[in-house]
Amino acid sequence: MIKLKQAIQTQGTVLSGDILKVDQFLNHGIDPELMAAIGKEFTRRFENDGITKILTIESSGIAPSVMTGLYLGCPVVFARKQKSAIHHKGLFAADVYSYTKKTTSTITVEADKISADDTVLIIDDFLANGQAALGLASIVQDAGARVAGIGIVIEKSFQPGRTLLDGAGLRVESLARIASLSDGTVRFSDEAAC
Ligand code: 5GP
Repeated sequence: MIKLKQAIQTQGTVLSGDILKVDQFLNHGIDPELMAAIGKEFTRRFENDGITKILTIESSGIAPSVMTGLYLGCPVVFARKQKSAIHHKGLFAADVYSYTKKTTSTITVEADKISADDTVLIIDDFLANGQAALGLASIVQDAGARVAGIGIVIEKSFQPGRTLLDGAGLRVESLARIASLSDGTVRFSDEAAC
């Protein structure tokens, strides 16, 4: 996706530990026009898959998910990283190790937010080691629902997540695929040159 790749090239910063900082448009500041374009592109890729719900994780998955939900015409649910103070009847939960924070947290979704007849599109901002996506997929499976696919805004293809998700038989659609961040330079995978 050309617009996204241009935003990464012009506004992204490579930090140590192979972290890409995109605080101008995705992770802190949010670019609504770019989010709308991302929503349209995910919609183009998944519009024939009978998606009834989008599941993401707070906070950076929410903006691209809401725009996708708008164009796909389906509701969005985000998994919480911290327990809500409000009492609820049942929860689906999964432990997720965070690559950026180096900690494990339990993500949760209230049981009434996903039902067994849902066909779910999982969306996240980054794919690194695949732990967030796998945690979300296990929540969908616990709900008895079906994962139609995983939409990723920025995939770091040189890290293990993509291989892990492919190996689990999950369809992954990434809008930008990064082959390397070495020497502080973003290099995209050839196949992402669309
Ligand atoms: P994974 O579970 O695939 O290892 O990591 C995915 C999560 O880690 C994403 O939800 C994202 O918040 C965070 N993450 C992983 N790599 C990066 C990165 O290079 N930059 C940013 N900003 N977040 C990242």
